[in-house]
Amino acid sequence: MHKKVIIIGGGTAGLCAAIKLKHFGMDVKVFEKRTKPGEAGAGILIAPNALKALEPFGIADRIIRAGYGKDGIQIVTDKGHKIMKLSVPDEYGNLYSIHREELNLLFYEALPPDTVQYGKECVRIDQDEQHVRISFHDGSEEMGDILIAADGIHSIIRKQLTNKDSYRFAGYTCWRGIVPSSYCTDWKDEFMEIWGAKGRFGIIPLPNKQVYWYAIVNSRKNDARFARYTVNDLENRFGNYREPIPSVLKASRQMTHRDIVDIIPMENFSLHRVLFIGDAAHAFTPNLGQGACQAIEDAVVAAECIRKFSTSLCGVRYAPQEESGGYFQAFLDIWKNYAVG
Ligand SMILES: Cc1cc2nc3c(=O)[nH]c(=O)nc-3n(C[C@H](O)[C@H](O)[C@H](O)COP(=O)(O)OP(=O)(O)OC[C@H]3O[C@@H](n4cnc5c(N)ncnc54)[C@H](O)[C@@H]3O)c2cc1C
Repeated sequence: MHKKVIIIGGGTAGLCAAIKLKHFGMDVKVFEKRTKPGEAGAGILIAPNALKALEPFGIADRIIRAGYGKDGIQIVTDKGHKIMKLSVPDEYGNLYSIHREELNLLFYEALPPDTVQYGKECVRIDQDEQHVRISFHDGSEEMGDILIAADGIHSIIRKQLTNKDSYRFAGYTCWRGIVPSSYCTDWKDEFMEIWGAKGRFGIIPLPNKQVYWYAIVNSRKNDARFARYTVNDLENRFGNYREPIPSVLKASRQMTHRDIVDIIPMENFSLHRVLFIGDAAHAFTPNLGQGACQAIEDAVVAAECIRKFSTSLCGVRYAPQEESGGYFQAFLDIWKNYAVG
């Protein structure tokens, strides 16, 4: 029987799920509230587990060609003394840094042109024994058999279905930016994190002679003083850290800021016809650099499960709890095929 999968959210998780479902020949539509492809923000690291999941689509190769590869991250003190290197074992390959905008475009371009509809903000979903109905901010509606909620950490679908505000503030706040690498003095293009009493500072080279930086400082939730911070304030704070931090901040014109939060673990990633993936399902803090990588793993595993279980998932009745449990076990079994190591 013809099954239609609706995906809400055209970020990493949503687009990757669409790529895999299209690959299986399934009818899939993505709805994204942004008005065009691309993603705001700075850089991102993609690790070998995500590349492995993307291998069958040729996308891993494109990330490798478009990214900047290194075999690990150096951790040093604010004075430049080495603490340790977090290395990726040789057999797994490199970590790749890439601009978020470029990564999102790369996924978007791997899909047939009419797959993603932009400027469509989901405001509510309703499900019954046959279908799931999605309502958008412009008054329009869409019907499908299965809904993949890939609408990120602030998922309104999670909020609606669990009836909970599930954020947990992590105790620190973060600024990010990008500068030309020509401004970086005394630095050998390493992926590097610098630890000191005034905070953590990350420097990651990007392709096209750019550098992505981030600064992390312990804080209170929604601290108004940090919300007002300018690049000058960061220069004052990190001015006595080792180069290239002072020169990177001096060269910075723009930056983004957000408190770091995760979410309370969900009891189930599937609620009847709705399956949560990526940050909508399990947003965590960025310390492992794995949020998008896990979103990619979710996407390909979820797509395989949907293909395998679409009959029971799209039956004439709600999947009862024990079926959801079986589905979750199958999810884990398929996931194991993608595990690195
Ligand atoms: C500081 C920082 C650094 C990080 N660094 C890394 C890293 O190096 N490596 C890594 O793997 N991960 C990293 N992450 C985590 C990573 O950014 C996320 O885990 C990843 O973006 C999750 O992808 P997603 O598709 O689930 O969600 P998102 O990327 O948030 O995408 C959700 C999409 O849904 C859309 N949307 C939301 N609501 C609606 C709605 N109602 N209707 C329609 N569309 C909607 C949004 O516009 C968005 O496009 C970092 C995170 C932070 C905060």
